[in-house]
This record gives sequence, structure tokens and C-alpha cells, in this order.
Amino acid sequence: MKKEYAKMDAASLHLANKKVVLKLIKHNSQISRSSLAKESGLTPPSITRIVDELINVDGLVESLGVGNSSGGRPPMIVKFKNENNYIIGIDLGATYIRGCMVDLNANFISEIQVPTELEKGFFSIIDKVIKMIHKLQSRKETNAKIWGVGIGVAGLVNSETGIIESSPDFGWFNIDLRKELEKHLDLPFFYDNSTRLMALGELKMGVKENQKNFAVINIGYGIASGLVVEGNLLKGFSGFAGEFGHIPVDTDSDVQCKCGMYGCLEALASGHRIASLGKQAVADNRSEILKELCMGNAELITAELVARAAKKGDPASMKIYDDVAEYLCKGIGTIANLLNPETVYIGGGISLNGDLLFNLIEQKRNKYLLAGNARVNIQPSTFGDQATSIGAVSVVLNKILNLELSGNMVEI
Ligand SMILES: [Zn+2]
Repeated sequence: MKKEYAKMDAASLHLANKKVVLKLIKHNSQISRSSLAKESGLTPPSITRIVDELINVDGLVESLGVGNSSGGRPPMIVKFKNENNYIIGIDLGATYIRGCMVDLNANFISEIQVPTELEKGFFSIIDKVIKMIHKLQSRKETNAKIWGVGIGVAGLVNSETGIIESSPDFGWFNIDLRKELEKHLDLPFFYDNSTRLMALGELKMGVKENQKNFAVINIGYGIASGLVVEGNLLKGFSGFAGEFGHIPVDTDSDVQCKCGMYGCLEALASGHRIASLGKQAVADNRSEILKELCMGNAELITAELVARAAKKGDPASMKIYDDVAEYLCKGIGTIANLLNPETVYIGGGISLNGDLLFNLIEQKRNKYLLAGNARVNIQPSTFGDQATSIGAVSVVLNKILNLELSGNMVEI
């Protein structure tokens, strides 16, 4: 029995050392075996064994051969093998389903986008997701490996059970997505709330390295946020932290939110709200430009169309975006004053309408920020319309770097 424990301890110690070495190799574009020994504190024979395993068994590292010597023994250089090691990321949104296949350095190999067509229901949507994954799988070279699939989905995802407890955008309640996907996928897959994944994508793959305090706000059909505090994604007691869309920003409002409360940020500033205010403006004959853009059919009005009308100088559309920006600044002020983030990233469909929204936010932001928080950067999310897919990819990458997907038990 004692021997069993000793064996287990040696195996977990080896795994822990292997993770350290793999992360060091990933972090440095190229590194010598001797530098790995120095930086990890492991002995050269341990490094040799671990690196050989990472090359030959896991396929995550490659040898670049002998480097230039500055005197003494020439260094043996290795690098992280991102080429031919792929991850699939899926953004399951209410308007579009976007999918991408990227290598382990987030270089795009292939992308697909299809309309979600919410009205066709759950099984049609799941079918589209599965077909998309299969299509992406078919586009890989024969010698490449797909490690897994990450999926971002709008809604409250219980990270313990995997149950989508509620997704008002899709009209889903207590959905077991795992059960459906398992029937059709032969790859490991993981899913989580799309905005939380956007934040994870910024944390793991975003432009600013070592940024430990930031918020990602996702403004699309609904509004949500992912919060990174001291380098960790904030989950909260039950995993539902970041419901930014339900901050009350107008307590006198008679606009009811999907959650049942009145005057929530989501009810007053989401893409859904922008579109419905645009429709109202056309119905009231207050916007000739918008009427022209939708060719007289108000049903075709989207938040993007209202943005186009505003950019053409339409006063009614401009007023809609002006009010939305005011509400958003109230919300951003609440987050910034509470958490003191370095940056607030804004992503989601509404953030993709050019400078219109960002210029308005820039004009209004400081009304709601304490002096100490006034330096916060407010900027578009790093990955634009791929922010959720890249976030989904980063979940899988995390698992690869923690050797959770290697599937090779280490014999000691
Ligand atoms: Zn609400």
C-alpha cells in the first residue's frame, strides 16, 4: 500500500514538473534545454526525459536541433509545436453561429459562419453546430491533430453540472447540452457562458500580457460581462458572477427586462432595444433615413441599421445611440468604481459598428467615474467578432497546457 502511494506521488510530481516545462516552452518562442533546467530548477536528466516525452508522446514540442554556442557545449533548442496542433472554437450566438479552427498560437486555419435561425428551435441549432464542427474537422491536413472543441453559449451555464440553467436569448431552460453533443462528437468538448469565455480569451491570448484586472462587456442581443480580478476569472458563489446587464440604470423606467425587473441596462441598451427603438421611430414617422434604409419594412431594422442611419446624420437614430451610450457609461462607471480595472473591453455585435458608440462613450464616461478610476481604458475587444470563439479556444488550450487532454498515463 505504502509503495502504491509512493508511486502515485512520483507520478503526480512528474506531471507537475512536465506542466512547468511545457508552459516555459510555450512562453518562450525558443528555449534551450539547459535554460529550461535553469528556469525550472529541475536537473538536466529530468529535463531531457520530460522534453523527450513532450516531443515523442504528446507531440506538443519540437526540437530545432543544435543552436549557436557562446563557448562550451552547444545548446539544444526546442520550441512549442503550434503548427499542426489545432483547436476548434464555436460561438453559439442568437444571431450567428461562428466557428474557427486555429493552431495553438491562435493563427486562423479556417472559419465558418451561419445564421442561427432561432425560430427553427433547439435541434436545428444543435444540428448546425455539429455540422460546423464536422466541416472544420474535414479541413485539417491529415498529419494534423485537433485537440478539442470549445463552445461559448449565451446564458447561465452551471460550470459544475454543465446544465444551461437559463438562456433567455434561445428560450432554453435546464438544457443538458452535453448529452446532445456527446451523441455526435468524437472530440473532447467544453462549453461555458460566451461572455465569460470572451474574458478568458483576453486573459490568455489578448494583446496585453500580464493584465490582471479588467472587464469584458458583451453587447449584443443581450448584455453581459466577464470580470478578471487579480488574474482570475470571477465566477462567484454559484458561477453566475458578471450579470452586468441587470444593473438598474433607470429606476423610473417602465421598460421591463426579460429578468422581470424594470430599468435594467440590458432592457435599455442591448441590440434588441436599439432595434425596437428604431422600429418605433419609423412607425412614428420620426426617421426618413431609417425608413429608406429598411426599404419601408420596419421588421428589417436591426441595431446595425440604426447605427448606419445615425452615421448618415439621422437625428432620431443618433438620439437612440446617445441614450444607449449614456446608460452604458452608467454601467461601466459601476464596474470601474467597484473593481478598479485597467481596461474595460467592449465586444459583441454592437461594438462592431465602428467609432459611433466608442466616440459617444468617450464623451460621457468621466461623468460616472471617480477620479481614481478615470484612467481606465475603454476599448474594443481584441478579437472583434471572433472574441467568443477565441475565448472558447483558450479553454481547450488551457487544458492542453495542463496536460489534461494528452491521455497518456505517465509510467514511473
Ligand atoms: Zn434584467
